[in-house]
Amino acid sequence: MTAPYDANNIFAKILRGEIPSHKLYEDEQTYAFMDVMPQGKGHCLAITKAPFRNILDVDQASLSAVITTTQKLARAAKTAFDADGVTVIQFNEPAAGQTVFHLHFHVIPRFDGVALRPHTGQMEDQNVLVENAEKIRQALGQ
Ligand code: 5GP
Repeated sequence: MTAPYDANNIFAKILRGEIPSHKLYEDEQTYAFMDVMPQGKGHCLAITKAPFRNILDVDQASLSAVITTTQKLARAAKTAFDADGVTVIQFNEPAAGQTVFHLHFHVIPRFDGVALRPHTGQMEDQNVLVENAEKIRQALGQ
């Protein structure tokens, strides 16, 4: 049995403005921001505004909205960094590697021959996050 949604998770706090984030995009149903422990240059996240734990409990409308935002981010991040490809990842429950229990899709620009850094590894320099966020926002036309 899966645990219920916990409104004190870190992404719920970001949505409520209780902790800061490097915002990239927002619409009625979704929000996008930089991952603070990037696995690669420009690693960002798309989340639902509604409280879902992961893909196992999300409703279809919110899932459609967040995957549409994920595609926007993927295209923009690829353009922003002139990447060779983009990895989109999504984890469900601790056994699968999920560490923050609010539905999110990872978008990671990829470069030929460059491996991903570890999941939830090192905190990125804030100046780098600011710079990379600006590049993605520009590519999004924000
Ligand atoms: P998960 O393991 O649940 O798929 O991914 C959670 C992601 O959230 C990780 O990539 C991690 O680096 C990121 N993360 C954890 N805490 C924070 C935070 O406070 N702010 C932001 N922007 N990202 C976070």
